[in-house]
Amino acid sequence: MSISTHGLYIDGNEAPGHGELMELINPANGEVHAKISCASEADVDQAVRLADDRFRNGKWASMNSRKRGRILQNMANLVRQKRNELGEIESRNTGKPLGNATGEMVAVANCFEYYAGAVNKFFGQTIPGAANGSLMTFREPLGVCGLIVPWNFPLIITAWKVAPALAMGNTVVIKPAEITPLSALALADIAKEAGLPDGVLNVVPGPGELTGEALVGHPLVRKISFTGSTEVGKRVMAKAATDIKRVSLELGGKSASIVFADANLDACVKSSIFAVYDNTGQDCCARSRVLVERPIFEAFVEQFIAQAKDLKLGLPEETGTQIGPLISSEQRERVCGYLDIADDEGARRLTGGETPADGPLKNGYYLSPVVYVDVEPEMRIMQEEVFGPVVSIMPFDGETEAVAIANNSNYGLSGSLWTRDVARAMRVSRALETGMLSVNTSSSVHIEAPFGGVKQSGIGREQGMAALDHYSEYKSVFISEE
Ligand code: NAD
Repeated sequence: MSISTHGLYIDGNEAPGHGELMELINPANGEVHAKISCASEADVDQAVRLADDRFRNGKWASMNSRKRGRILQNMANLVRQKRNELGEIESRNTGKPLGNATGEMVAVANCFEYYAGAVNKFFGQTIPGAANGSLMTFREPLGVCGLIVPWNFPLIITAWKVAPALAMGNTVVIKPAEITPLSALALADIAKEAGLPDGVLNVVPGPGELTGEALVGHPLVRKISFTGSTEVGKRVMAKAATDIKRVSLELGGKSASIVFADANLDACVKSSIFAVYDNTGQDCCARSRVLVERPIFEAFVEQFIAQAKDLKLGLPEETGTQIGPLISSEQRERVCGYLDIADDEGARRLTGGETPADGPLKNGYYLSPVVYVDVEPEMRIMQEEVFGPVVSIMPFDGETEAVAIANNSNYGLSGSLWTRDVARAMRVSRALETGMLSVNTSSSVHIEAPFGGVKQSGIGREQGMAALDHYSEYKSVFISEE
């Protein structure tokens, strides 16, 4: 296979970056599959200045809203049409099973479609006020939005930021994760084909400490939307404070699933397996803590182990593959480091943690799904985000204890609750400190509903109409009628 070289996307064209030339590795086989010439600080400056000029002097922000919506709808249609091609790019770049990656492209299309329809349904108000005039609000775009994206769901998370930002009339500079920039570059091509004016959407791949910092520090960037680790999120927020940039942060999680004894056990186990192991556990919403009411604890663990052992690790393109590799050898080392910590702390590993020594997977960054029991709430494995295929299962006695354990976390992103008792579902839903919760299922993402966390899981919300709040500003206007 020939190795392609990619660069930046500025003013409607791909252009070479002036930063380092990075090799992109296919996590499924450890081979270089592409190269990327990263953005230098000067490249970021050029992209931001151009986006600022297009915001102020271009036609995007002032375009008729129906026309803006049509361009976003064109983007949705093109993504849907090209989902196989895009899925293939994403799968090669991340190691995701091909079917999952292609499915993610449908979610990307749905996101653009949602905001295509939202463009002219989000507006200011007239407000009863002084008798001698009219008081009203405008919802105005912010200007250049810097969008910083992680590697675990590269294009979906890009779409969650780009679509609402463009819907409000902003211009954007996207900083994809340095190891997974290809789908964002493909989206830039699609945007052009869809009729988006040049310079409205720009992409600057490169390492976070350089490209990301340059974007966050640029005085013409009005807003940073960041998804990534809590550690880097804190840094981004502090740096953005220098010139009071608007900031939204989607950060880490340590989400809990609470399983009461009256739950539908079969459905719950089946769902809980994917809630933690999907995307090889590299999911901010992964239910990596499972709390099970004591009377059904043993039955739950028995079924869970059997299904975890049955999961098919495989090459992304192979039919039937359920678990792909971790994103990189560093990530696998990091996850294995957590296994050592958990073993040392006295947690009991019932299965998993093996890496394939031979066969077609041996050069990929694979790790078999891990299950721990005999865990305590204060253990690091119960407190820290592992971002790998590792679950801790713990028994509890009663509602109060379950809520206390679940809330004993600096994070508060997502979670699940399994019970047939509606009153309890309502009580516990209210008591849990989390941004999202699913009852008798493990879903976290609904494009129509706000997505985001409380506590150290973030600030602000993506998706739903709520996202538009974060890409616009109120202006209050009073018109005197005297
Ligand atoms: P990361 O924080 O290392 O990097 C995220 C992005 O920030 C990358 O593009 C990176 O290049 C950039 N970056 C790194 N240092 C930077 C800096 N100093 N200034 C500006 N940008 C910088 O995270 P990651 O390892 O790519 O992704 C995994 C993390 O993302 C996990 O903690 C996960 O929970 C989180 N995540 C959260 C959500 C959510 O919606 N809450 C979704 C996906 C992932």
